[in-house]
Amino acid sequence: MTLLKPDLYTDAPALKGGRCAKGHVFFPMQTYGCETCGSTELRPQELKAEGALVASATVHLHNGKGREAPFTIVAVKLAEGPMVRTLLDGPPNDDLAPGTPMKAVLSGEPADLRFAPAR
Ligand SMILES: [Zn+2]
Repeated sequence: MTLLKPDLYTDAPALKGGRCAKGHVFFPMQTYGCETCGSTELRPQELKAEGALVASATVHLHNGKGREAPFTIVAVKLAEGPMVRTLLDGPPNDDLAPGTPMKAVLSGEPADLRFAPAR
């Protein structure tokens, strides 16, 4: 499977995040320093690609190239803490309630990471 953004996620799928020496978990992995404590003792940590919906918004007019409106953007708070914003998998949906359990899926070729309601 070819991944669209292999620096951000694996084909499990899992998200490529990181953790500082004091335990703060973040996404994506970076080496500049912990956003909470400033520590530069950061190491990669794979994050479970599941969490809860925080918010969603459907885009009806889109001026960019390569993506046809309408589509829905979701903000998902991962079970391990960090927030991720990405596309909702499947057709647009304005009826998702905050708190809905969500899980990641890989969609398309090359495969991109999106989120969908968990069953
Ligand atoms: Zn820290």
